[in-house]
Amino acid sequence: MGLQSPPISPPDADFESLVAVGQSAAQRSIAVIGDAWTLRVLRTVFRGKRRYGDFIKEFGVSRAVLTDRLNKLVEHEVLLRDTREGKHPEYRLTERGLDLWPLFLAMWVWESDWGTGQDQDTWAPDLPRRQVVHTGCGHPMRPQFKCLHCQQAVLPFETTAIDATAQADPQAFTAAPLAVAPAITSSFRRERQDALHNTSTLQAQRLVRVIGDRWNSAVVAAAFRAVRTFSGFEQALGIGPAQLSMRLAELQKLGILSTRTYAGSRMAYRLTKAGIALFPVTLELVRWGNRWYWPGTPAFTVQHLLCKNPLEARWHCGHCEAELVRETVRFA
Ligand SMILES: [Zn+2]
Ligand SMILES: [Zn+2]
Repeated sequence: MGLQSPPISPPDADFESLVAVGQSAAQRSIAVIGDAWTLRVLRTVFRGKRRYGDFIKEFGVSRAVLTDRLNKLVEHEVLLRDTREGKHPEYRLTERGLDLWPLFLAMWVWESDWGTGQDQDTWAPDLPRRQVVHTGCGHPMRPQFKCLHCQQAVLPFETTAIDATAQADPQAFTAAPLAVAPAITSSFRRERQDALHNTSTLQAQRLVRVIGDRWNSAVVAAAFRAVRTFSGFEQALGIGPAQLSMRLAELQKLGILSTRTYAGSRMAYRLTKAGIALFPVTLELVRWGNRWYWPGTPAFTVQHLLCKNPLEARWHCGHCEAELVRETVRFA
C-alpha cells in the first residue's frame, strides 16, 4: 500500500477550496502555481521583467488571462503589485515568490535534460542559449541536487517517505523499478537523446503540460508515492474515472508514465526515466508548499536512505560545487 493522499478538488476549483481539502503540501503548491500561464508569468519575472506589457510581449497572452493570473499571484502573496504615481505598475516577487527559485532551477534542469527547446512557446524557449549562471564563480552551470547531510546526489530510489501522522510503514518512493544507478545512466542518456530529437509540439511543451496542469502534477506526485493502479490513483486523488483516464493517457503520450500488465490483465502505471527525473521538481513543490501553506508538522517527510537523515536537499553549482543561494543564481 502506498501512502494515500487525501482527495483534492477538480482542477478549476479555486485556491480556498483546494486549501480546505488538500492535505498535501504538493497539492497546495500546485493549487497556487500549477497552471501553465502562471508558470510562464513567474518564469518571466525571474528573468527580471516586471511590467504588464513585458508579459504580453514575452509570450503573447491575452489580457484577460494575464490579468487573472497576476491578480491570483498577488492575492496568494507570490507577487506584489508596486504602483507608483505616474508609472506603470510593476510586479515583484515577495519573499514567498522568491523562495520559488529552487523549483525553477529544478524545472530548468529537467527541461535541459528532457525538453526539446524547439518551440518558442515552451518552458525554455531557446536552450541552450538561455543559461543558468552562478555569479559566485561566474560560470554557466548545470545545478546539482545534493543531500545537505551527506553531500551525495539525491536520487529518488534512495529515499523513503515517512508518514508523520498515520502509523503507516515507511513507504519507498518506488519511482524506479530498477534500483541500480550505474545501469540507468546509459539508457537515461539514450532516452534523453530521443527526447532531444523529437521535435513534436507535444514533446516540446512537456514540462508545462505536466506541471502546468493540476491533475497531471497530482498524478505524478502520487506516482512518487508508489501509487500504481487506476483504482489507486482514483482513491488517492479523488478524481473521476473519465478525468483520470485522460490524464493517464496524456502522461503516457508525454513519456512520463508507462504501463505494464500484471496479474493477468491488470495495468500498472510507472514513471519512465523522464518521469523519475521529475523527482527534484516534485520535492521542491513539496518543500515550498510545506514552508508557505502548511502550518505545523508536515504530513510526511522524506528520508535519505544513504545517510538515514530527513532529506534536506540543496542545489549546488555544477562548476565550482558551492551551494547555491538565490542571490548567486542568475537565469540569463
Ligand atoms: Zn544524505
Ligand atoms: Zn560556481
